[in-house]
Parts: sequence; C-alpha cells; structure tokens
Amino acid sequence: MKKLIVGNWKMNGSLAANQSLVQAMLGGLAGQAPASHMALCAPSPYLAQLQLLLTGSAIAWGAQDVSSQEQGAFTGEVSAVMLKDFACRYAIVGHSERRQYHGETDSVVAAKAQRALAAGITPIACVGETLAEREAGQTEVVVKRQLAAVIHAVAHCTSEIVVAYEPVWAIGTGQTATPEQAQSVHAVLRGQIAAATEHPERVHILYGGSMNAANAASLLAQPDIDGGLIGGASLKAADFLQIVAAGA
Ligand code: PEP
Repeated sequence: MKKLIVGNWKMNGSLAANQSLVQAMLGGLAGQAPASHMALCAPSPYLAQLQLLLTGSAIAWGAQDVSSQEQGAFTGEVSAVMLKDFACRYAIVGHSERRQYHGETDSVVAAKAQRALAAGITPIACVGETLAEREAGQTEVVVKRQLAAVIHAVAHCTSEIVVAYEPVWAIGTGQTATPEQAQSVHAVLRGQIAAATEHPERVHILYGGSMNAANAASLLAQPDIDGGLIGGASLKAADFLQIVAAGA
C-alpha cells in the first residue's frame, strides 16, 4: 500500500507563513508525484487558503477536529458538512491534545468519526497510551478500547477510516517510539481492524509522535506502519518532504 503522510500543523501558522510553507512543499515536489500520499491538516480558518493553494495538486488537506454535532446551537464548533464545503479530504479526531485539554471521551471521538464519514470526509482516528499507562502495562488495553469505540460507531465503514497510533509520551517530546515498539502496537490494531472488516489491508495505520526526517525511514519500513501523522516536522517543508520520500 502507498504510504500516507499527514501534517498536523496544530495551532501554528498565518496566511503569510502558510503560503510560503505550502509553496516550498509544492516547489520541492516540482510537479512529480510524491512517493507517499500527502495531506496537511490546518487550523479551520486556513482551510479556504489550503483549498486555494492545493486544488489540483498532489497534496490533500484536512481539519484537526470536527464537531460531533450535525448543526445548530453549538457555538464555536465546526461541522463536518462545513469542512466538506472547503473540500477537506480528512479530519483528525481524538488527537491526544483534544482528549487531554478538551475532555474528549472515546464516545465523543467515535461520534466525530461518524459525522466525518457521513459527510464524505475520512476521519483520522487517533489512539495512544500515556507514559503512565505504558508503564502499567496497559498500552494494548487502552488503544484497543479507544479504537473499539470508533469501530463500533462506524461499523460497516471501518475500512474507510485512517487510524493513527500516537503514544502520548512521544508527541512533541522528541522521544520517538522505537520501530519495534510502534510495530507491535500497529499489529494489534491491524488485528482489531481485521476482526471488523473484510479489508483490513485498506486501512492506513499511521504512526505519530516525534517522527522526523531522520527516523521516518526505519518506522515506515515496519510492515504495519502505513504512514505518519507529523506535528513539528510538518512545519518545515524540507523535513516534511524527506518524510514523504522515506515512504517510497
Ligand atoms: C501530532 O501532533 O500528531 C504529532 C505527532 O506531533 P509531533 O510530530 O510534533 O510529535
């Protein structure tokens, strides 16, 4: 399967900075098809800008979150249908920063995944254990519980989601999971997906957590690591393109 490399800009950027970053990425591709599928997930106000800059290019775009509600009196929320208006291909759901700082539960994350799919957007469902959970030997239990909620909600559409394994202790810390640590969790997730859909091989399972230009190749060489969700390194065009190339 062709790898999928997704940038998560988090709450970074400006009209000017985004324009230079995207132009540097497009310039680096020089009209060639990238070795991996590519997408950029921007803060919502910049989705219109990405649509303008990326339509017709090899780079897809998406949101970093989506409302679990369809529409109405939910001040500050952005619906899946609105994201679709800006041609978003993806929406990240259940990022650990949303779970941690916004109290998102497994069932809220599952509802978000379902809303995205219903609007024709591919949810990138994030799962991952904290350091305390890993040290307590709970990694498998935690990631399976988080993914089970999403699978239960999306049911027969399970083969249409993207999953991202992001150990919380590795996000933004510079402390990457070893390829072996990541692979062993990815194998568990693949098994769980296989029990829910006839086509587990269609589901990209991304690794996220301090993936960078130096460590991407060894992570992406693992049999069940189908791509990456990239935070910090997606803000530097050259680094991001090197990760994309490492997926060849
Ligand atoms: C992320 O935000 O999903 C992430 C993996 O961040 P970083 O690459 O900076 O660890």
